[in-house]
Amino acid sequence: MPELPEVETIRRGLLPIVGHTIVGCDVRRRDVVRDRTNGSPNPRRGSIEPSALGVGSVVDELVRLGKQLGIVVRDPCGQERVIVVQLGMSGQVSLVDSARIPDAKHVHLVWALDDARRVCFRDARRFGGVTLLGSRSDLDGFWAPLGPDALEITAGQLRDGLGTSTRAIKAALLDQGVIAGVGNIYADEALHHAAINPCERCSDLRTDQIRALAKAIRGVLREAINARGSTLRDYRDPSNEPGEAQLMHRVYARAGLACLSCGHVIEQCRIAQRSTCWCPVCQPINR
Ligand SMILES: [Zn+2]
Repeated sequence: MPELPEVETIRRGLLPIVGHTIVGCDVRRRDVVRDRTNGSPNPRRGSIEPSALGVGSVVDELVRLGKQLGIVVRDPCGQERVIVVQLGMSGQVSLVDSARIPDAKHVHLVWALDDARRVCFRDARRFGGVTLLGSRSDLDGFWAPLGPDALEITAGQLRDGLGTSTRAIKAALLDQGVIAGVGNIYADEALHHAAINPCERCSDLRTDQIRALAKAIRGVLREAINARGSTLRDYRDPSNEPGEAQLMHRVYARAGLACLSCGHVIEQCRIAQRSTCWCPVCQPINR
């Protein structure tokens, strides 16, 4: 499942579309699009105004918060709209030449640019989708439930987000309202880097541990972005290339193997319904 590094890699890979005009949009599967440009909470049916899909507008900016990508466009009258892309479990965004338009069954949306390139949204499992917003301030509202972006999280923000919760730290890290962008992979990796047990209660974490965790989160995410994300199954960057961050995982999906730091066997359990891997020696519990 794509997390912050994968979405940031996609954002960077799409930067060449900034300044280009969207000249068309082929909606092949209507129900992956939520049109909120009229403020209504609507509906996954009915026709969509081409302008809501960005047709006739110039791509102004590509923004990201957590695992969500916002394509900000501006029409000739100066009206801004935002196309929010959520990748869910298996979403992909690719930038292709017209000669290579994918005819794949799971390509749901194809935007045509003025230079004949295409931006394609593909999502085999359809947990992701595209939300159309009428303005930049609507985007602020749409993203209001999300916590601070994990790539820049400070120890103070993390401490405030965790509060006095007694739930396991791993569960809190997966909560996008606490910190935006961390999923199962990078939660396990950051906890190992910070030497914190995933079952530790948030309320039992010491100040120095929260500081170490905030630093570990930023560090593992930056490293993963440098490796262009983790490809476990579906994830590809906009050039359709897999990432290489999976080669750097120290605990994630390594249950039963030796810890790369101490040699002890990596253990596995479930926290918040998610498989969790950790080293009992490197990550002892406080209490
Ligand atoms: Zn270890």
